[in-house]
Amino acid sequence: MKTYDTIIVGCGAAGLMAATQLVRRKKSVLILDMGDAPARKVAISGGSKCNFTNMRADYTHYFGKNPRFVMSALAQFSPRDTLNWAKSHNIKYIEKETGRYFCRDGAKDVLNALLSDIKNTPIKYNTNVIDVEKENDFFTIKTTNGDFYSQSVIIATGGISYPHLQVSNIGQMIAKKFNHKIEPPRPALCAIKTKAFDSALSGISLGAEIIVDKHKIVDDLLFTYFGIGGPAVYRATLINPKEMIINFAPDTDVFEFLKNAKQTNGKKSVTKVAAEILPNKLAHFLCEDARNIADFKDSELKQIAAKINHFEITDGTAIGFTSAEVMMGGISVDKISSKTMESKICPGLFFAGEVMDITGDLGGFNIQWAFSSGFVAGKNAG
Ligand SMILES: Cc1cc2nc3c(=O)[nH]c(=O)nc-3n(C[C@H](O)[C@H](O)[C@H](O)COP(=O)(O)OP(=O)(O)OC[C@H]3O[C@@H](n4cnc5c(N)ncnc54)[C@H](O)[C@@H]3O)c2cc1C
Repeated sequence: MKTYDTIIVGCGAAGLMAATQLVRRKKSVLILDMGDAPARKVAISGGSKCNFTNMRADYTHYFGKNPRFVMSALAQFSPRDTLNWAKSHNIKYIEKETGRYFCRDGAKDVLNALLSDIKNTPIKYNTNVIDVEKENDFFTIKTTNGDFYSQSVIIATGGISYPHLQVSNIGQMIAKKFNHKIEPPRPALCAIKTKAFDSALSGISLGAEIIVDKHKIVDDLLFTYFGIGGPAVYRATLINPKEMIINFAPDTDVFEFLKNAKQTNGKKSVTKVAAEILPNKLAHFLCEDARNIADFKDSELKQIAAKINHFEITDGTAIGFTSAEVMMGGISVDKISSKTMESKICPGLFFAGEVMDITGDLGGFNIQWAFSSGFVAGKNAG
């Protein structure tokens, strides 16, 4: 009966990074994955250009019950370490915004670099893990392809978004079995459905500011046929997909702007005036009035200004796991050591990546978390 030092469940970014450290430490490793190819989310990430890190990664860019949990792992394997790792593997990268790094030639470069670090490590694909048992300090990993044995296990099974890529909640089931708490999963980094807008606005995109539970997000917003999406909305879903206030003209005090137009350009329709600072269709939708601006009372202009500077959404719902980039919630980090990623309840059981209740902001923070937590788990397991 072959017993490995460590079995890694999940061949994503976190599982592969964990494997690189185990291999470096000359541990015997087996990786199990239910899919038929490695790191399928990495392959499609960042529009297939993989936004693999962000130099601003610190706990303020992470969400979950205890975002500070990320601090130790980010210190042990920092965004700078990720960039140096990319350089040492000849990955050509581009910095799109300050500190935000993408692969120049495609996400496959990150994947190939990870695989090159673990040559000869067995990876069993199409192997669905269905349970993990522990007896006398040894783990039995039960799968659809038989049982496997190890001294330690790293659960790196990711989140349940993008189900067509073959995902499961087995990580949470296993953690629960070993008495870890589970924070309820919900989809995030995705568009929201709302009845607040007309589907005719679909396709319009503009820079906007969103206020959501006291957070201010300034980014692009895109109208869809079912609601709104785009980076600003994606990021808002990390906080509260239901209620948010949108400022469609963040650089303009619209009430002042309209009052001024009433004085100087009174014969123009209010819609035409609004269209000077908004896309035409959106101006029509928000103003809904063909009268000349001179015919408006200031109180009416105030109401129009409020719709532009302070549009309230109260019925938002995240579009769902099918197209959400990440899962929020997951295994509570309460009983996991932030320094080693080992369970405080079950020695030898480790966790890495998105499966835990840690979710990063849009911008390379999630793959950085997968790398940092995977690195730490791989340094300590086995
Ligand atoms: C469209 C899209 C774009 C994204 N773009 C970016 C980006 O540019 N930058 C960024 O930072 N993040 C991005 N993300 C998020 C990022 O890809 C993930 O957070 C990250 O890849 C998670 O890595 P992981 O290793 O924890 O999990 P995963 O990559 O999900 O790996 C988990 C693995 O475990 C396997 N598994 C699950 N259950 C079982 C089981 N029962 N038995 C065996 N194997 C199992 C899965 O098949 C999977 O291969 C994006 C996500 C999506 C969906």
